[in-house]
Amino acid sequence: MTQATQTQTTPGLAPTFTHLVSKEGGVKYPLKALHVCEETFSPLEVAYDYDAIRAQVSRETIEAGPNSIWRYKAFLPVNSENPIDVGTGMTPLVKSTRLARRLGLNNLYIKNDAVNMPTLSFKDRVVSVALTRAKELGFTTVSCASTGNLANSTAAIAAHAGLDCCVFIPSDLEAGKVLGTLIYNPTVMAVKGNYDQVNRLCCEVGNTYGWGFVNINLRPYYSEGSKTLGFEVAEQLGWKLPDHVVAPLASGSLYTKIYKGFQEFIKTGLVEDKAVRFSGAQAEGCSPIASAFKEGRDFVTPVKPNTIAKSIAIGNPADGYYALDIARKTNGNIESVTDAEIVEGIKLLAETEGIFTETAGGTTVAVLKKLVEAGKIDPDETTVVYITGNGLKTQEAVQEYIGQPLTIEPKLDSFERALERSRTLDRLDWQQVLV
Ligand SMILES: *Cc1c(COP(=O)(O)O)cnc(C)c1O
Repeated sequence: MTQATQTQTTPGLAPTFTHLVSKEGGVKYPLKALHVCEETFSPLEVAYDYDAIRAQVSRETIEAGPNSIWRYKAFLPVNSENPIDVGTGMTPLVKSTRLARRLGLNNLYIKNDAVNMPTLSFKDRVVSVALTRAKELGFTTVSCASTGNLANSTAAIAAHAGLDCCVFIPSDLEAGKVLGTLIYNPTVMAVKGNYDQVNRLCCEVGNTYGWGFVNINLRPYYSEGSKTLGFEVAEQLGWKLPDHVVAPLASGSLYTKIYKGFQEFIKTGLVEDKAVRFSGAQAEGCSPIASAFKEGRDFVTPVKPNTIAKSIAIGNPADGYYALDIARKTNGNIESVTDAEIVEGIKLLAETEGIFTETAGGTTVAVLKKLVEAGKIDPDETTVVYITGNGLKTQEAVQEYIGQPLTIEPKLDSFERALERSRTLDRLDWQQVLV
């Protein structure tokens, strides 16, 4: 195959990404909107010239860069001098004290993408990259098959970039996710079916309409955006890799790309080589990767999702095989938790750290807890838990489990009576659930 010609390049800096390559067999493809190898049927991935990257970046140049994912532009598959920058990335890495103590961990950090910009989930990272690349490739309409957050991101960032947008979601999504898409005024197709059916439909639409589907024909570019979750953690830890990460798994893309990000920082000399353990989190109601892990299989058997963790409810995960491989070779684990545990995970993080996450984050916190209790995380390991979405978007999940405000008259005695009442059983019972 011949290589595509680069349309725009940054003056003075050679492009660092060179071609697409199939994950199996190493078949090369040009840098177009392609995502599957025609020979091996394996996914395509972006390949880089790491010598070129090493020549362009250092810790200092990165630190002097924009306060967004674009400080790592040399590691991302875009040429534009002005990529779409809506302030995505550089979210807080919080050293945990109260959650850590509760779990019995000494070195726990929380990567808080619940406050990622502009739509409060990690998906803003992948979409910022995908839409920048979509523009470079000449697409004028962008689209996606979404479990909710991706539709929010695609619609918002397309609005900012002046791209036409049509997104596809399952029709049973949380109200916050639907509203959080509609507000940007894209075309929204609510499909009567689960995510896997939405995705299949989108594959057909993509072939016919020539749109840029961020997670289908633009997937190799899109998925690279998740590497920034690895880059930022390494930089925020003082240019060091952690010992252990715990991240949620839907398609498995984010998890595998955090790994790729760490490897690239090692390869380019930005951090010292180190073995990092990768553990993954799924909801029991959609845990095809966790099941394969537990049963020692290297293939993933698709399932029909049934869980409150809708944002990670992918029954047929595209990168499941690669996620399994990483968990095994890094001596990590992939665990699942029940919906009740997910709700407790959300509340635990909120009450100990002041971070309100959505169901995906509840899943990850609950799995973290489960792994600690099973002795699968050493208390002294520097462990990073990835919180990928915001709780205001999945209010339905916790509505029944958080009590009600105490409604009072605007009078002191009314307040005092209510305060007395609040100190009695109900509230205590309630807190005991979490101990
Ligand atoms: C999409 C999503 C994930 C995981 O996505 P992958 O498909 O595994 O990359 C995790 N958390 C949230 C909140 C998401 O929206």
